[in-house]
Amino acid sequence: MPAVLELLSRSNSTSQAFAEVLRLPKQQLRKLLYPLQEVERFLAPDRRQDLHLRIFDPSPEDIARADNVFTATEGNRIDYVSSAVRIDHAPDLPRPEVCFIGRSNVGKSSLIKALFSLAPEVEVRVSKKPGHTKKMNFFKVGKHFTVVDMPGYGYRAPEDFVDMVETYLKERRNLKRTFLLVDSVVGIQKTDNIAIEMCEEFALPYVIVLTKIDKSSKGHLLKQVLQIQKFVNTKTQGCFPQLFPVSSVTFSGIHLLRCFIASVTGNLD
Ligand code: GDP
Repeated sequence: MPAVLELLSRSNSTSQAFAEVLRLPKQQLRKLLYPLQEVERFLAPDRRQDLHLRIFDPSPEDIARADNVFTATEGNRIDYVSSAVRIDHAPDLPRPEVCFIGRSNVGKSSLIKALFSLAPEVEVRVSKKPGHTKKMNFFKVGKHFTVVDMPGYGYRAPEDFVDMVETYLKERRNLKRTFLLVDSVVGIQKTDNIAIEMCEEFALPYVIVLTKIDKSSKGHLLKQVLQIQKFVNTKTQGCFPQLFPVSSVTFSGIHLLRCFIASVTGNLD
């Protein structure tokens, strides 16, 4: 287990765990909390602005506060609520909502599990067997917000599934942000483009999360990050102009993503 994860799992409370995280050597800390800055180090200084690094740049203290929002306690229940195959079966939850979409195998369940690692009771359901109905899964995070795990799309996704995602994105009134996952190893694929077009068409605010960053060499990751950033800058309107690289294995970028979610749902004020 990576040293950082060991630290986090050994500690009982987030603030205690986070205090230990803050004592990590500078480079390890940067890699864990700000993976984009780590990528930036391999760019020539005159190209660094290409990555729009300082748009969302919370302090480690803000990140620690957001971790508290994601920590299950008696007063902050974090639970699976229900699943739905149609938007009219979705639970009527008044809180702000964020959803996660992405191709099958992009690392969505792993990412949601990592985000909920401070609420170990939460079971992230996965229905991957062919023929099994794919569902939207709703999780409530205390009184703060709802997280929705959308079914993975892919080459063989049935049409009713596309309808499900499309209708949800179009009609869900309390949806504050859509997190669109792209595998950092292979970059934006054809099916990712369909999802991007959907978000653009409905004028949704969305964010590209780059998954599995531990799998590539630094050079490959830098190349993918620059390519996708260029795409975001030149071809999109609704996409947040900062990428969120993450690894569900090393936990790099997970705390920052929690902080961004807390921020866009109004829980960091
Ligand atoms: P989903 O279909 O999008 O829910 O994808 P999963 O979360 O099930 O992940 C698909 C595969 O990628 C699994 O074998 C995971 O173990 C692997 N995976 C997911 N996230 C990461 C990551 O951050 N790093 C690495 N190395 N592997 C990952």
